[in-house]
Amino acid sequence: MTPKRSFKLKLILSYFFVVLVCFGFAAFFLKRASFETTEPVFIGLILALFFAFIVGSMAASMMINPINRMIDVSRKYSEGDFSRRIIHSSKDEIGELAGTLNKMAQDIEDKIKGVRTQNQQLAAIFNSMIEGVIVVDKAGRIVSINPTIEKIFGVSKKDTEGRLFLEAIRNNDMAELINDILKKGEPSSKEISLVLPVRRIFQLNATPFFDNQIVNGCLAVIHDITEIRRLETMRSDFVANVSHELKTPLTSIKGFVETLLESALDDKENNRNFLKIIQDHTERLNVLVTDLLILSHLESKEITLERRDFNLRQLADEVMMGFDSQLKKKGIEAKNELAADLSVKADRERIGQVFTNFLDNAIKFNREGGSIGIYNQESGGKVKITVEDSGIGIPEKDVPRIFERFYRVDKAHSRELGGTGLGLSIVKHIIELHNGNIGVESTEGLGSKFWFTLPV
Ligand code: ADP
Repeated sequence: MTPKRSFKLKLILSYFFVVLVCFGFAAFFLKRASFETTEPVFIGLILALFFAFIVGSMAASMMINPINRMIDVSRKYSEGDFSRRIIHSSKDEIGELAGTLNKMAQDIEDKIKGVRTQNQQLAAIFNSMIEGVIVVDKAGRIVSINPTIEKIFGVSKKDTEGRLFLEAIRNNDMAELINDILKKGEPSSKEISLVLPVRRIFQLNATPFFDNQIVNGCLAVIHDITEIRRLETMRSDFVANVSHELKTPLTSIKGFVETLLESALDDKENNRNFLKIIQDHTERLNVLVTDLLILSHLESKEITLERRDFNLRQLADEVMMGFDSQLKKKGIEAKNELAADLSVKADRERIGQVFTNFLDNAIKFNREGGSIGIYNQESGGKVKITVEDSGIGIPEKDVPRIFERFYRVDKAHSRELGGTGLGLSIVKHIIELHNGNIGVESTEGLGSKFWFTLPV
């Protein structure tokens, strides 16, 4: 028997029983009424009604109680509490309905759990993104922002949510793009620049989202591309600088070779001079290409330092000896005042290159009869080595850029002296590879102090 039939049967049987009882008493009343008094008839009728009431109530509560329990639990479901279940044991229609409600509650509870987990994951992504994310509704009001936006614009999520974009984040470029997207319903992007307080460049990408094909809001993502732009500029500047540096000697070499070929080969007075100029320019090209190769090797990830213990004073002495003739030629007095027992664990050859570049500059940019001193100080596990000269010094405005590739205070003068403008940037790379620092203090017209530190 199916549960549906059993429930129906229960109903039919209860009412059939009530009617049967009423019918019995009515028959009894009719039989007695014709012979004796009406009293038993009246009692019979009362009893019939009493029995009918008792049986009716029992049948009604049998049906109503589980329904009431279901109403209570359904009320909890409507309030969002799907943890409750209806206890039922009967196999009739009510039991079937309770089972279906329990299953529905279990399904909804599982789905809510799934959605909650998904929301937590999305919130974690949203909050940890390095890109700034803003969600606005179709009216242009902010629905949500992530912590990166709070940081970039110095605003708080609490204060911005629900406010018009331009009111909360005062940026016209972004507001224009967002309004445009809300109007046209098409994704768009642009580069914006913000002063915070330093100027930074951001790429803004925004896309609309739809509800029934009608624009319902917009999602804007911004990310900081300042570093990418800086590197792009640096790279193109570097290519332009290298091309320029190579072009000057090449043009001269080409010019003098052509002159020699056309007529000057037999010109006894000038041909040797021309060849000497070609030789100088070739040498210059050679120095430039060598410096470029050193720099590119230092910047590559493949470089390995050969660290070993050595005496710094001894190394400085050796390098100084190599400059003996230049020192004498300019009448410069050079003193090595490094401590006799000063030892470091570093790449000896490369630290030698640092001394060579510093000393070369200290001589080139020194005055006749000037002086150079090399000395050391120790502090906090580091040794600081300074190369001080009494030369022309560096103007204050040029000091911050002096370690950049190809940066020279006086390009023509540096070229005349055979400089490439790469020496200091090579030195900087070497010291940074040793986890040291590098710097300069200089007074124009009085001299410079170039220093570097190395871990002891
Ligand atoms: P360069 O090949 O021109 O010497 P560097 O990278 O070694 O290239 O130096 C860059 C520039 O820094 C020089 O052209 C010069 O203008 C300045 N400079 C370097 N050292 C000194 C110094 N000791 N005194 C004054 N100026 C210096």
